Amino acid sequence: MANAEIGVIGGSGFYSFLDDVTEVQVETPYGPPSDSLFLGEIAGRRVAFLPRHGRAHGLPPHRINYRANLWALRSVGVRQVLGPCAVGGLRPEYGPGTLLVPDQLVDRTKARTQTFYDGLPLPDGSASEVVHISLADPYCPEGRSTTLAAARGHGWEPVDGGTLVVIEGPRFSTRAESRWHAAMGWSVVGMTGHPEAVLARELGLCYTSMALVTDLDAGAETGEGVSHEEVLKVFAANVGRLRTVLFDAVGGLQPSETRDCLCSHALDGIDTGLELP
Ligand SMILES: [Zn+2]
Repeated sequence: MANAEIGVIGGSGFYSFLDDVTEVQVETPYGPPSDSLFLGEIAGRRVAFLPRHGRAHGLPPHRINYRANLWALRSVGVRQVLGPCAVGGLRPEYGPGTLLVPDQLVDRTKARTQTFYDGLPLPDGSASEVVHISLADPYCPEGRSTTLAAARGHGWEPVDGGTLVVIEGPRFSTRAESRWHAAMGWSVVGMTGHPEAVLARELGLCYTSMALVTDLDAGAETGEGVSHEEVLKVFAANVGRLRTVLFDAVGGLQPSETRDCLCSHALDGIDTGLELP
């Protein structure tokens, strides 16, 4: 039986250099995940990689089956998730190449299923309970400090904390939206961080976001605004060092069975009615 302990939701650039990767197709009660899971080993830890947008990058952020993705990871044994993603900087000092490890999240998406506990019958006919979990601190404190240390270890001084605002997309923000996000004091803007972090917490998984700034958002720069080509170019230029930091973070994470962080206790005393894999 295929198994892993740590999950990485990101592009194929993160696992394509590993030897000995096993592709596993996972079915979930919520439909198919974005792609197969790709299982491999880093620093003696079993890791499951999931290409967030599918291996051919065919899934836009608003059409990703986030529930299936998190469920699939948990079902192969994953308890800690690292989520590298591309974001736009909302402040001039967060230019391309900045690595920010957010500690807060704002949801400005509009049309995404964002809970496992919606009270509706599940595909297998059983009813889900109405469950309210705490998301006051949306990211794993242990995962964050491990990731920050890994970045510093490679001389890439990360931004420790900040707010990731997630928009529906797939379009980028208008200048007015972007200036508003910045005026609220938020740090970076992306399209996939929500509901990924929420759903991880609902399953009792640790989740850590690693936000790579690929461009200055429309309100923070003075040119034409963000283009997709720009984003891809900066991401490609940084994916190597992001992968290095990610691999180090994987090796530095505590063993999943000894977790004692708030995420590991998210479901304590709650009857979810779900048979968690
Ligand atoms: Zn945790």
